[in-house]
Parts: sequence; structure tokens; C-alpha cells
Amino acid sequence: MNADDMKNRVRVELGARSYDVSIGALSPDAIADKLAAALDPKTTGVAVLVDANVAEKSARARDLVTALAARLPHVERLDLRPGEACKNLTEIEKSCEWLAAHAYDRRAAIVGIGGGAATDHAGFAAAVYLRGVPFALVPTTLLAMVDASVGGKTGVDLGAGKNLVGAFHQPRAVVADVGFLETLPERERVAGLAEVVKCGFIADAGLLDLLEQSGPALTVAQHEEIITRAVNVKADVVASDENESGRRAILNFGHTVGHALEAASGYGLLHGEAVALGMVAALDLGTALAVGPPALAARARNLLARLGLPIDYERRFDAQAQAGITVDKKRRGSTIRFVLVPTPGETQFMELSPADIASHLAGRAAAKA
Ligand code: NAD
Repeated sequence: MNADDMKNRVRVELGARSYDVSIGALSPDAIADKLAAALDPKTTGVAVLVDANVAEKSARARDLVTALAARLPHVERLDLRPGEACKNLTEIEKSCEWLAAHAYDRRAAIVGIGGGAATDHAGFAAAVYLRGVPFALVPTTLLAMVDASVGGKTGVDLGAGKNLVGAFHQPRAVVADVGFLETLPERERVAGLAEVVKCGFIADAGLLDLLEQSGPALTVAQHEEIITRAVNVKADVVASDENESGRRAILNFGHTVGHALEAASGYGLLHGEAVALGMVAALDLGTALAVGPPALAARARNLLARLGLPIDYERRFDAQAQAGITVDKKRRGSTIRFVLVPTPGETQFMELSPADIASHLAGRAAAKA
């Protein structure tokens, strides 16, 4: 392994279940080598679950399946319904039936290729098929590279809400190849930048400086750097709190209001766009509670707008969004453990009632109207 490879490798430290996230501009052969090295050498087969859009648009994805077949036994590809359409129990059942029909046994492994929806699907299928088989991930959106593929949270949606069924199941390896971003629609790439900004606010203030200087158009090397730094933040938090009983909740910065706005938009807002709005709202709330200076919210507004992300949460904070806060999945009893940022790179929790959050933000919305 050369020095550059080492620089762009983040270890998720979880004892016997530790694994590497490799980040770089890699060839399909290099990705396949990393995956093959991470899987059990005695593996009996590899089922490759690929987002159908990615399989169609990205020659890189198809070449990767060929490269895997040259290295590993019994490699078959299953195309998943694109994006969120694969994240439900019906599609999981279909994948599991397909795995059984193709005689994948307990010593087989799954490789998931796609955005966060496909990686959540592949991880959850791996968690439940034959009560658990190993898996590895090749994220193809910026959001999946910096967030969804790292940390072992897998799952699918119910009619009642997003991500309501799932399991913690850690991958054996994650390989983030920035080459996949070439076919990713620009709006999706920019939405992924919101999660990078989040990592800047909660733990690595240097990421904010970097994005303020670069703006949204990033070189391959800059993508490698922001992905590596964001994955470092996530890996560090996950290692300290794998099952989200404490510190891992800092990753929810911007998500309480963000999820409510995302749902209220009928999922017309992309997740990252909703998180951008939620971060501005959280920083405004911090200002009102004297936790952070007003300059912090102003900085977030300037940076997010420069990156091409929405910041006008006040306009969108309608009755449905207000109601969405009160059904927040992370609610404990009558309060929400709200993540505030006093200064870039630091976080503070505050137990707030959903009604207080909603009424404060609704007040700002009314003042703006
Ligand atoms: P996505 O997976 O829905 O992909 C977005 C769109 O881009 C889809 O249409 C997909 O087909 C397409 N696409 C993906 N990669 C492409 C590529 N390289 N070229 C062309 N098209 C491509 O969206 P996402 O933002 O990556 O993920 C969102 C999902 O991730 C949500 O379901 C969310 O709940 C989940 N998530 C999970 C975690 C976790 O910790 N498990 C964290 C954050 C988000």
C-alpha cells in the first residue's frame, strides 16, 4: 500500500469488528482488491446488490462487478429499485428470496453498491438473511460516502415513517471511490456537502474553512480530503458510542428540524437539503438560548448558500413541520435531546420540549413573514 492510500484510510475502531474505510480515486480493480482482502478468504460466494440507476449509468459499477468476479467465487448481480424505492420490507423480501434462489449460504457475503438507500438495503439484507452474513459497501453518492455507509446502521422505511425497521450490523469494509461522483446528479452531490458541513460544525472546524475557500466546485483531491475528514469524524463518534446510547447523538445536529421539514415537504427536499435548513434553525435556536453567538448562524447561512443549499427554513416551517417535531423518533418521553453548537467543532446537548422548539421557530417564521 502506498503512502497516499494510507493517508486516505480511516479505521473504524470496534474491537474485533473494526474495519477500514478507504477513500480515493480508485480503479475498479483496486476497489475489488480491497473488498476481496476484507472478505473471508473462504467465502462461498458474493451477491452484489446494486442501485439500478448506478448499474445503468456507471460503467465503473459494471466493471467493478466484473473485477469482483475475477477474484471471488459465485459473483452474481442483483439490481435494486433506484434510491428510496428499494428501502422497504417488500424489496428486502425480494432480495432475500433472490439470495436463497441463488443458493447463497452462511459463508457468502453481500456487496452493496449505491447511495445511502442501496447501502441501507444491502446492510439490512445482510443483517437478516440467514440471521446475518458479512457485507461490504461501495457508496456512490457523496452522502453515502461521508455518512450512510459508515457506522453500521442499516434499515428500511415503513408506511408509518422512515428508517423505522433496522439493525446495527457493521460492514467488513467500505470503499469510497470519488470516481462514482462523475455520474451523480449535481443536486445530489451538493446535498451531500451538507453532511460535510455538519461534521465541520460538530467536530472539525477546519472543514468549514476549507469549504468557505473552495465553494461547491471541488477537485478530486479536495473531494478526497473532505470525505476523509468527514469519515474521520463519523468513525470517531461511532467508535465511542456504537449503538447510539450517548455521544453518537451529536451526529443528529440539524436533523430534528431537518427531518420534520423533509417529511413536511413530502420528501421533495433531499435529505442533505433538509439538514442544511435544520442546521440553520438549530444555530438560531442556540442564539436564542444564549448557547452560541449570532455570528455562528450567519456563518452557516453564508456557507450553505454559497454551496447552493437552502437556508430559508422560516418560510417552510408550516403547521405540518411543527407537528413533525413533536413526533421526532429521537424523542425521550416529553423532551428531545437537542444538539446545539456553541462554537465550531463543539457540541452541547439541551433537553427541550418539542413544543418549545416548535413555538420558538414558528415565532421566527412569523417575524420573517
Ligand atoms: P439515494 O441512495 O436515494 O441516491 C440518490 C439518487 O442518486 C438515486 O436516484 C440513485 O439512484 C442515484 N445515484 C446514486 N449514486 C449515483 C451515481 N454515482 N451516479 C448516478 N446516480 C446515482 O440517496 P442518498 O442521499 O445517497 O441516501 C439517502 C438515504 O441514506 C436515505 O434513505 C437515508 O435514510 C439514508 N441514510 C442512512 C444513514 C445511515 O447511517 N445508515 C445515514 C444517512 C442517510
